[in-house]
Amino acid sequence: MNRNKSIVFLFFTIWSFNTSFAKHKNYLLTCWEKQVKPLKNEFFYLNYIESHNEFGHTFEPWQINHDTIKGQIWCNSTHFIKSDTLYKEEDNYNSISQYDGKDLLLLDYNNTKLSDVYNADINKLPLQAANYSPTLLLSYFVTNNVAIDNDKKNFAPSFAPLYTKITGIDDANSSRKIAVYTHQINGVTVKLFISKKEHVLKKIVTQENNELYGDIKTVIYYENYKKLKSTIYPTKVIIEKVNGKLVDTINIVKCTIENKAKFLLNKPENYKIKNDEPLIPNVTIENYNKHIHFVNIKHTDDKAMIVEFSDFLLVAEAPLNSANGELIINEAKKIAPDKPIRYFVFGHFHPHYIGGIRAFIHNGANIICTNDDVPYVKYLAASPHTIEPDNLQNQNRNTHFDVIGQNKTIYDENYEMTIFNIGSKSAHTKDYLIYYFPTEKLLFEDDLVWINKDIEIEKAGTRQMGLYNAIKELHLDVKTIVQSWPVNNYNVKTVIPFSDLEKSMEKIDK
Ligand SMILES: [Zn+2]
Repeated sequence: MNRNKSIVFLFFTIWSFNTSFAKHKNYLLTCWEKQVKPLKNEFFYLNYIESHNEFGHTFEPWQINHDTIKGQIWCNSTHFIKSDTLYKEEDNYNSISQYDGKDLLLLDYNNTKLSDVYNADINKLPLQAANYSPTLLLSYFVTNNVAIDNDKKNFAPSFAPLYTKITGIDDANSSRKIAVYTHQINGVTVKLFISKKEHVLKKIVTQENNELYGDIKTVIYYENYKKLKSTIYPTKVIIEKVNGKLVDTINIVKCTIENKAKFLLNKPENYKIKNDEPLIPNVTIENYNKHIHFVNIKHTDDKAMIVEFSDFLLVAEAPLNSANGELIINEAKKIAPDKPIRYFVFGHFHPHYIGGIRAFIHNGANIICTNDDVPYVKYLAASPHTIEPDNLQNQNRNTHFDVIGQNKTIYDENYEMTIFNIGSKSAHTKDYLIYYFPTEKLLFEDDLVWINKDIEIEKAGTRQMGLYNAIKELHLDVKTIVQSWPVNNYNVKTVIPFSDLEKSMEKIDK
């Protein structure tokens, strides 16, 4: 190190030593004093238009369900009351959330009865409210005395470029301008980014585990702040969800300060906030015969299937997450401890069938899927799960694909089954696979048949019709259909005589 550099470095060391002990300014409090405190007991009254996007149960992976929502909100440091209307092609749906600092009342879209409210719903509320206005969340951080993140790189402006040059770390510039406050809310890491110059909340970054996609980052940007009396509010909120794959926009079209909020729901006399119920795994085996074993997964309302051949197993369906995948693998080991799971197959890419796939990739099974689903499976296999690590996160393994065309027969010397790719004929997804067992004249499928347990058979819907037509086209001799989901909910049959399907087809006007 030459002399000049040494002097600079010494100066720099002393200076940073001093600043790290300097008392930090409470940017969180000054921000709250600017954005929330002036309201006192009054309310922001907001009218907004939301462009809302979700990955729902779509036809293909990564397709987006888009909705437009219009709503009104009353909020301040303790209250958040929201009433909104979701506009669909034919119908409109209304929902209300009403929080008064103590009790939360929820009326979901198109419900007439209030939803049950759990502690977790109340804990999550400040974060959910932050999609529209940060008043409740800022107050939550202030009330909880959240301290500023380690702010050692809080340099005087002239030192930032030098710091970057010496250390190669280029975030000196942003930490010079932005104060970050981090807190855990209901298992979610929440970071507030507050401008040190303007004392204004610029953005919120959250990090949490998603059971399908793993580590999920959400960024909420507050833009175009406007002055209103002695306070300010953002007129536009942009929300990047699912690691930026979805972007919602909320435009605040009108904002006033009102001295009263409109309470839209009355608290019922028997109102009680319920304790969060721990999810207790409940898995039982139902041996259909010596080859077919159904795995009843009560806590997700699913039926997975294990097919036993002379020296290997096939598993079909694994709901929602890796933990459920591991539970099924455990059951497979009990059924046949010495037989490896040679194949894992999911009937279509929706979470109740593919959600546990990472457990089977880790287990070394060949993944049977359509060519179109390969990129989606690769994404799920590669997605980091550091927040709630599963086996594949702890021990990475390659994914072995077995791509299916029109059909694939799996057999040994005594037994066989055929997987048929009926694709979009399902009227549900583009990748639909069904499983046929010629010996039993049995067909196993995911979610195409909806026959009520109690009432007379009604005419077939599009999915049911799709399955019926596919069975006829493939000339399959089917006696019984077994369905994977739902098992107990919706009051529909999971074991369906083929004659039921025929009756439902007869009901269709020719
Ligand atoms: Zn589905």
